Amino acid sequence: MDFELPDEVKEFCDVTRAIVRDLLPYEQQFQESGVIAPIVRKTLVENGYFGMALPEEYGGLGLGALAQAAVQIELARLPPQFWTELRPLMGPGAKNIIYHASAEQKQLLLPGMATGETPIAFALTEPNSGSDFGSMRTTAVRNADGWLINGSKTFISNGKNAKYIIVYAYTDKAAGPRAGISAFLMSADTPGFSITGTIELMGTASPGVYEMSFDNCQLPADALLGEEGQGFRYALEGLNEGRMNVGATAVGMGEYALELAIDEAKARPAFGGVIADFQAIRHYIATMATDMRAARLVLLDAAWRYDQGEKRRELASMAKLFATEAGSRTVDTAVQIFGGTGYCRGFAVERLYRDIRITRIYEGSSEIQRNTIARELLR
Ligand SMILES: Cc1cc2nc3c(=O)[nH]c(=O)nc-3n(C[C@H](O)[C@H](O)[C@H](O)COP(=O)(O)OP(=O)(O)OC[C@H]3O[C@@H](n4cnc5c(N)ncnc54)[C@H](O)[C@@H]3O)c2cc1C
Repeated sequence: MDFELPDEVKEFCDVTRAIVRDLLPYEQQFQESGVIAPIVRKTLVENGYFGMALPEEYGGLGLGALAQAAVQIELARLPPQFWTELRPLMGPGAKNIIYHASAEQKQLLLPGMATGETPIAFALTEPNSGSDFGSMRTTAVRNADGWLINGSKTFISNGKNAKYIIVYAYTDKAAGPRAGISAFLMSADTPGFSITGTIELMGTASPGVYEMSFDNCQLPADALLGEEGQGFRYALEGLNEGRMNVGATAVGMGEYALELAIDEAKARPAFGGVIADFQAIRHYIATMATDMRAARLVLLDAAWRYDQGEKRRELASMAKLFATEAGSRTVDTAVQIFGGTGYCRGFAVERLYRDIRITRIYEGSSEIQRNTIARELLR
């Protein structure tokens, strides 16, 4: 890549930046009331953001990994509560559907996903299995009517809104995770399914993530997603591609924090000048800018290579690892530059500080990314 975005991607980013500028004023109202102005979702639906990552033949925009990442960088300036509904539509669950659903399943889901009418959730994590999801306990047992699902999931984003849930379960425990886990598409009105709890968060999603219970949920035979026993591979494949979008949100938040910090440094009076006069602050800004430039490039390079068919796991992992860690360092330094106000509710850097923290944990923690990078290099 020549490090210039293609014209059509640049144009979409410019449009997105203008939309973000128009929507950012609704942040204050949201922070005060906890209610998101309806125009936020309406604008995102009308401009195609729900369908960004979905195929054109089903009403999506069919953007590649590079365009998705570049646009997500812009959107990430908005409070995550404004765009959190988009995450499952660009994340591993959506990838599972695009790559492995049958024609009927795609027709059932994708057109509604692209318009925001069919929210989905991706249910992999369980109370006793997160990074080590191969030790999940949820099971799907084949019977005369299809599959009987029993178990529980936790931390599921969008769990309460979702009309369909991609559920991972063991169909053959003896075969082990790589051949014994399968993925299923379950309608949220399936008898026996319930949301058993809401977990409130430090930042990010509103109002939280959800605990789920599956108590003898009877699914039809055609609820299987893709091939039986391939769930572990599908989950990894979806996570691998989806994690570039997590990296993109971290780049967007970090770049926004850098801009805010530069404005503050030039405006905040101290000792007869402004704080930007001090070398300590200037060095902070230099380090933040260098970190964020490197993060943007490592991310866009990985996404571009992905679009060229170079789907190397370590590149997606490096992109997520570096972007989320550099973004976190940058947001932390922005809080420092703001001084006391950086720690106060109502200032964007304070919410960025809370919001960016999760990017180093979900869709594969930093430790798991390092494991993946090392495994691929030492292979
Ligand atoms: C806001 C939010 C949204 C989420 N959304 C979803 C969702 O929609 N769907 C879903 O399925 N899950 C979701 N999750 C779950 C998320 O993916 C997990 O929290 C994450 O994978 C980490 O798993 P864990 O929390 O069980 O931590 P653990 O796996 O228990 O890890 C704890 C610590 O140990 C480290 N660790 C674990 N294994 C290793 C290892 N082999 N080597 C080195 N260090 C290791 C981890 O990196 C971490 O630091 C969400 C979580 C949150 C908080």
